[in-house]
Amino acid sequence: MTLPALPPGLTVGILGGGQLGRMLAVAAAKLGFATHIYCPDRQSPAFAVAASRTIAAYDDPSALDAFAEAVDVVTYEFENIPTATVDRLAERIPVRPGRRSLEVAQDRLAEKTLMGELDIAVPVYTEVTAAPDVYSGLARTSRPARLKSRRHGYDGKGQAVIRLGDDPNNAWRAIGEVPAILEANVDFATEISVVLARTGDGRVEAYDVVENRHRQGILIESRVPAGVSDAVAGHARDIAGRIADALDHVGVLAVEFFVADTDEPDSLLVNEIAPRVHNSGHYTSDACVTSQFEQHIRAICGWPLGDMRRHSDAVMVNIIGSDVGAWRDFAGSGASVSLYGKAEARPERKMGHLTQTAPRTTSD
Ligand code: AMP
Repeated sequence: MTLPALPPGLTVGILGGGQLGRMLAVAAAKLGFATHIYCPDRQSPAFAVAASRTIAAYDDPSALDAFAEAVDVVTYEFENIPTATVDRLAERIPVRPGRRSLEVAQDRLAEKTLMGELDIAVPVYTEVTAAPDVYSGLARTSRPARLKSRRHGYDGKGQAVIRLGDDPNNAWRAIGEVPAILEANVDFATEISVVLARTGDGRVEAYDVVENRHRQGILIESRVPAGVSDAVAGHARDIAGRIADALDHVGVLAVEFFVADTDEPDSLLVNEIAPRVHNSGHYTSDACVTSQFEQHIRAICGWPLGDMRRHSDAVMVNIIGSDVGAWRDFAGSGASVSLYGKAEARPERKMGHLTQTAPRTTSD
């Protein structure tokens, strides 16, 4: 469906007030939109750069109705928004991406089921609803394996690794005895992601594939160009586009992959998807003509997509926890500095990022 383009001056509503909401709000302002952030947390980093805010629970019906009245389109910056919230808003106002993208991305089992329907490879996994399922599942996945809660996992949270000799009950307890999947550990050569944008009339454009490094489940570094063959990169983009189409997604979508062999397209396994702008796409703000944040605002507002060409090579490094105390060093490092304005530097909390760019070394 072609969406009517929203004119500048209207208001974009954003569910969630973290750093992604903050960077989306700045991008919306660049295009002449105002933003209204809806978030239960009084300390939300996005509030500082938005015209309006609602501080209320995601299941507060009167706050949601007032929010719907105050904005012209709604989007979300993280996937743990209840689907009922989106349903209520969608009765009154367009919500993009829609419910389907949200419900699939917030449940690891739904994600894996969709990949199965699309014939897209994922790591070996089994469903877990009770402790005995962990034992029976290990027969399929072998060890080491990862027990992952179906919902509310991010940055490696809600996960436990089960190694040889470990008591599976400990892993079950560690994740809080909640519905989960048990997943075989993947011996990957590297991890990559595809960040793409899809318009309301189904046009899909992807950024260059980016290569990611994680530590204890948290992204620490992303770099472009990725160290994978063109065939692998092309196949990853193709898979990501098929997922976006299947979801009828509108906006930016990220798909994370494990790569067992950097030359072999068939070695790709989808790890997870995010129905939103993504940490591994932050480099686009400094290395591409149009950032992922602007692209998302364009797509949800019915605008044509911007030019996604990458003019620079880039390495993006997250600033995590107390490392942010070295802000003077970052400021003098020559890198592009982004700080999220979070009051408290808790361990493992993403506090900002640095992007180092250099003239592009590879052609298209
Ligand atoms: P996730 O939250 O599932 O994306 O996991 C965060 C990170 O943990 C991934 O990006 C990987 O670095 C690592 N990880 C997750 N699942 C697996 C797996 N099945 N095998 C190996 N590493 C994994």
